[in-house]
Amino acid sequence: MSRRIFLTGGNGFVGSHTLAQLLEKGYSVCCAVRTQAKGDKILADFTEQKSRIDIAIVPDIVTPDTYDSALKSQPPFDGVIHVASPFTYGIEGSNLQFLEPAIKGTLNLLKSVKENAPNVKRVVLIGSSASVVDYENLTSDPPKFFTEKDWNPVTWEEALEGDQSKAYRGSKKFAELEAWDFIKKEKPHFDLVVLCPPAIFGPSRHSISSIKELNESNSRLWKFTFGATKDSPVAYMPVHTYIDVRDLATAQVQALNIPEAGNERFAISTRQFDFQKISDILRSHFPELSERVPLGKPGTSSLPPGAYNVDNSKVKNLLGIEFRPFEETILDTARFFLEIERNEQKA
Ligand code: NDP
Repeated sequence: MSRRIFLTGGNGFVGSHTLAQLLEKGYSVCCAVRTQAKGDKILADFTEQKSRIDIAIVPDIVTPDTYDSALKSQPPFDGVIHVASPFTYGIEGSNLQFLEPAIKGTLNLLKSVKENAPNVKRVVLIGSSASVVDYENLTSDPPKFFTEKDWNPVTWEEALEGDQSKAYRGSKKFAELEAWDFIKKEKPHFDLVVLCPPAIFGPSRHSISSIKELNESNSRLWKFTFGATKDSPVAYMPVHTYIDVRDLATAQVQALNIPEAGNERFAISTRQFDFQKISDILRSHFPELSERVPLGKPGTSSLPPGAYNVDNSKVKNLLGIEFRPFEETILDTARFFLEIERNEQKA
């Protein structure tokens, strides 16, 4: 079993849960972050386990050879989990700000692992359902079930010139394609596993002091529920499926170790969800939210007829993941939002 892991993105929403589960399972972890302040924050968030964490500063993942010195490690790394990639629609300027860190960041890491980390047996890459689902064709009769064989048809030109959602979808698709191409052409000493999650919800593991600091997916969940009113229309997102961030972290650790997962792509979705169902759950458990969360039409689904779904049978069969219930994800996330709001009021 892999014992020492190199992790990127460990200071973010997904990566901090990855780090938490790696530590819980006894691994030692080197977290690559952009600045010492971000590394210090990780150490402060994981004080009890900090003897098994070290920090590598990698200021710019787009620069060639940027990971080289961080990957030369004693004891050596057994595995790598690559989470870091831009996922915020607050980015200003060219779409290359999504595309370059995603694509070059991934390729630089793979190249550097090949050259500097001979004991690494596997690299796990966090892709996205954005590279699987065709967001221009969200409904059909009968409804489509996307699988690992599907690729979002977004072109390079659309990714470069289109809106930020096209840039993000392109960034995840082309980074993943380049990663598979690297494995095929370079035949490195490690294999690759790509996990392609949809909307990721759940309480944050890294410390956050305000709602403004929420990551993109939780921020939307907050905005469309807590940030609305009883009479607001129920929101719709083109992403019809979700996963709990804690289940995704479990899957990442499984993906490191299950031999049959090597060189496999996983469309890792728990199930469909819709904002009416979220409203129903929140309104029935939190009376204090009754004037904030949209009422809509309780008991109905707010997804359009023929809404696509994602087939998760490969994830269940090969990675052995048991997904937690939707209600648990929503309630835990709501309690987390309420706690942040209370802390904001105190501050
Ligand atoms: P966060 O914004 O919380 O974390 C993103 C992480 O990537 C941070 O560690 C961030 O570091 C790092 N990062 C972003 N841009 C750069 C860059 N230019 N150079 C170096 N590091 C960078 O987002 P999430 O945790 O939600 O996302 C993590 C991963 O999960 C991403 O790969 C994303 O595509 C994927 N994903 C997320 C989904 C979701 O719903 N949240 C859905 C599907 C996939 P820093 O703090 O320095 O910016």
